[in-house]
Amino acid sequence: MIDLHSHTNESDGTFTPAELVDEACAIGLEALGITDHDIFAGFDQALPLARERGLDLVCGIELSTRAPFGRGQKTVHMLGYFLDGGPSDGFRAWVGRLLASRRERNIRLIRSLNEHGVEISLGEVEAMGRSLTGRPHFARVLMNKGYVKSTEEAFRRYLAESAPSFVERDSPVIEDAIREVAAGGGVSVIAHPVRLGFRRHEEEEHFIAGLAEKGLRGIEVWHSDHNEADTARYLALANKLGLLKTGGTDFHGGNKPGLKLGTGRDGNVSVPRVVLDELRERAAVVR
Ligand code: AMP
Ligand code: FE
Ligand code: FE
Ligand code: ZN
Repeated sequence: MIDLHSHTNESDGTFTPAELVDEACAIGLEALGITDHDIFAGFDQALPLARERGLDLVCGIELSTRAPFGRGQKTVHMLGYFLDGGPSDGFRAWVGRLLASRRERNIRLIRSLNEHGVEISLGEVEAMGRSLTGRPHFARVLMNKGYVKSTEEAFRRYLAESAPSFVERDSPVIEDAIREVAAGGGVSVIAHPVRLGFRRHEEEEHFIAGLAEKGLRGIEVWHSDHNEADTARYLALANKLGLLKTGGTDFHGGNKPGLKLGTGRDGNVSVPRVVLDELRERAAVVR
């Protein structure tokens, strides 16, 4: 069993890097990918612990990017995997700048929530996380203060793109992210493509094929949000376009209740081991 998509409490998960390594060993994972949003601190801390325990740890990151779509823009989550010695210093510096833009978004989000009648301060949300504050931390505070009953309700009413108090984040365009990941020694993969929300499969295929032309290297085929039909479709699409395949649960601990590391929701994620071998074999080969 392998799981190439997980988050620690250095981004918006609730497990410390050490707890995540413990859990991976306890359930008998052969390989674990840590893919925190905009930060490598979780991976950096987990690496020596994983080495001690004989767990194959894969270095990853999850980036929020923008892509043109119709007349507007779509937010696209992109995974970067660094199979060979980790990311370059240049890439780490680029990611550090993304972290700064996130803080600026958080200041505006606080202001917007205040304008929508929610009494909440930056200090309160920042206290929920470590180096990075994300919307799941806002959701926690909204719950603790009794504004909402669940994470879902927090997003629906206040934090999701469709909510009146939502604020846009200054994120890189996907071409730039693909280029930066490649220059930093990594492989770029489109994360949980089902969340792009395409109604027609031909449009979805056209969009992903366009990204492949811009240098995208893979598709996340297995994911806790994918049903059997989604997984089959993305597997076929990856094969058709000659893209790499990855997969993982997107484990966030208590910030995504009901999801188990390694197997997702009721065992709906089952990533073949060979996927990681192919990723390593082809990581260095530029298409
Ligand atoms: P941020 O990166 O701070 O903009 O927050 C995005 C994160 O919020 C995602 O990576 C998910 O972990 C979480 N998230 C986004 N939408 C939802 C939702 N509808 N329900 C629960 N969590 C969500
Ligand atoms: Fe997240
Ligand atoms: Fe994501
Ligand atoms: Zn994720």
